[in-house]
Amino acid sequence: MRRTRHGWQLIVFVGAILLPSVALVVVSQRTMQQSLELAGKRRLDEQRAAKERIAREMLARLESLKRAASDPQIALVARVESGHLLLPWESDPAVRRFRELTARPPAFAASLSRGEQAEFAGRDLDTAARSYAEALRLSADPLQSAYSRLLLARALGKQRRTAEAATEARQVLQAPVDMVDEDGVPLSVEAAALLLASPADRTAIRRVLTQAAEARAWQSPIAAFTLSNLADQLQQALPAEHQAWIKDFRGRLTASIRLQEQLQALQNDAARLGLLEPRKSVWTFYQGAEPWLVGTDQAADGQVLVTVVRALDVFRPFEAAGNLHFFASTEPGGELLADDFPGLKVLFAGAGAADAPGSRLTNWLYYGALFVLVGATAFGTSLLWRSLRREMELAETRSQFVASVSHELKTPLTAIRMFAETLQMGRSQDKEVQNEYLETICSECERLSRLVNNVLLFAKIEQGKSVYRFRRVALADNLRRAVHTLSYPLAQHGFELRMDLDEDLPAVNADPDALEQAVLNLLTNAMKYSGEKKEIDLRLGRRNGEAVIQVTDYGVGIAAGEHARIFEKYYRAPTPENQSVPGTGLGLTLVAQIVRAHGGCVDVESAPGKGSTFTIRLPLASET
Ligand code: ADP
Repeated sequence: MRRTRHGWQLIVFVGAILLPSVALVVVSQRTMQQSLELAGKRRLDEQRAAKERIAREMLARLESLKRAASDPQIALVARVESGHLLLPWESDPAVRRFRELTARPPAFAASLSRGEQAEFAGRDLDTAARSYAEALRLSADPLQSAYSRLLLARALGKQRRTAEAATEARQVLQAPVDMVDEDGVPLSVEAAALLLASPADRTAIRRVLTQAAEARAWQSPIAAFTLSNLADQLQQALPAEHQAWIKDFRGRLTASIRLQEQLQALQNDAARLGLLEPRKSVWTFYQGAEPWLVGTDQAADGQVLVTVVRALDVFRPFEAAGNLHFFASTEPGGELLADDFPGLKVLFAGAGAADAPGSRLTNWLYYGALFVLVGATAFGTSLLWRSLRREMELAETRSQFVASVSHELKTPLTAIRMFAETLQMGRSQDKEVQNEYLETICSECERLSRLVNNVLLFAKIEQGKSVYRFRRVALADNLRRAVHTLSYPLAQHGFELRMDLDEDLPAVNADPDALEQAVLNLLTNAMKYSGEKKEIDLRLGRRNGEAVIQVTDYGVGIAAGEHARIFEKYYRAPTPENQSVPGTGLGLTLVAQIVRAHGGCVDVESAPGKGSTFTIRLPLASET
């Protein structure tokens, strides 16, 4: 019957909780996975379409830039000549002009070269200054006069004719910045270098440097080096009010030198990147001090033109509109934008379906629901498991109880039958022996009735029936009656029972039969668990306004861990000594219930091998 019930519970649990939960988990997991895959695919499709659109729009924008003659986004348009990307300073018309004007007319050119010869090879500064002055006289063009004056100033300076040198240099300082020497360095900048020591000229020098730095988008490396060298020297010499300016100036200079280096690197990489051939609609991404998009085209005259566009300006509107980011293909992540843009990658923010905010929320919901489901199932399982275990334990103890009751019934019945049959057959004629047999039969009958009383009382209490009839009871009498009931078995087993009863104790309000039953149970236990020491003490006294009944034995004792449990129903301490002692596990349960019903309490003091003292405390009737 019980087994079937457990079977049913298991079937109900599996059918109602476990199977639906597992099915739900599996189904939702699959649905989740499918929706994630779908969302991922959709995102990929969207991104592919977005990439195509962006590439198309970017291409159109760049191609239109290529056609525009000038645009702030265009960093440079350079020609390819004999397989070589020509950098701005390599084809500077101002430099060409300088070369032309310093070579003609021959008299002028001769004076210049005589001067340089004397200045550098002969170290004859007088002759040098004279030759440069002659060249100045011969000059027919402002550039010629500015250049020869510059050389004159330099020679005079070397001769320590400082004032004359400064006068000449000051005139050159006024020369326009597009008047440059063969290295692309403005003549005014060279003059400024000669005037560095003169505080009066600092404002003019500052103006010249600023103009020179701003005049050209691309300085020649030597011009940039000269300017930065000058700025370094100037920083040492300038007073505090110029420091902020020089710092800013140097900063800009450094930035333009970096771009210059990037351009030189591009020149070196041009062949590798395929920039020497005209390729329509292809824009190579080139990352350096700043990112560039480099396109090539064929000019009307057949020459290859290379256009360098500042990529950040091109990217900005796309990055602002969509949640995306462009970067070099050498970096990890992202994907190539399109074949038309070699070296350029794009990364969409939140790429990967699982990162999308919508799907993240769904994920959370899903895992939350799953967590609640699994939690509820686990909770249900644990409750069910506990109730099953409790029931199984109860079933176990009940069957043990039935076995021990049967056993307890069998022993006295066998004895009664044996002695009765002996008497019946008249085997023993000795009167004394016959009396002994009869007393044994009576004692066994009493034992039987005690057992039956215990079981009946327990059953009534379990059913919640009121079983007590209270009246005033003299405890000493009550205890004596209990001892009398046990006098035969006590004597038979050789027990010494010492009694110490306070006869003056006032009466208590109690059910005398129930109380006797409780004391009998304690005394019977004292006998059962006495071991070798067959001594029992029964005391009655008062303490703190309570009647105190104590039963002490000197037997096997009880481990501290068992003290609370021995009062549970059906419980028997699982010690080897107890195995041989018959019992039902009901005795102390009843003691506790009876004493509680009398408004008292029972406890035990005991240790293994040291014996036990059970103490019942009852409120005294007169004191209540
Ligand atoms: P039982 O029928 O087994 O004696 P009880 O409820 O009277 O049932 O006692 C419960 C358990 O308490 C016993 O099985 C025994 O292990 C322990 N016990 C009770 N009284 C004593 C005692 N005087 N000495 C040692 N152990 C005792």
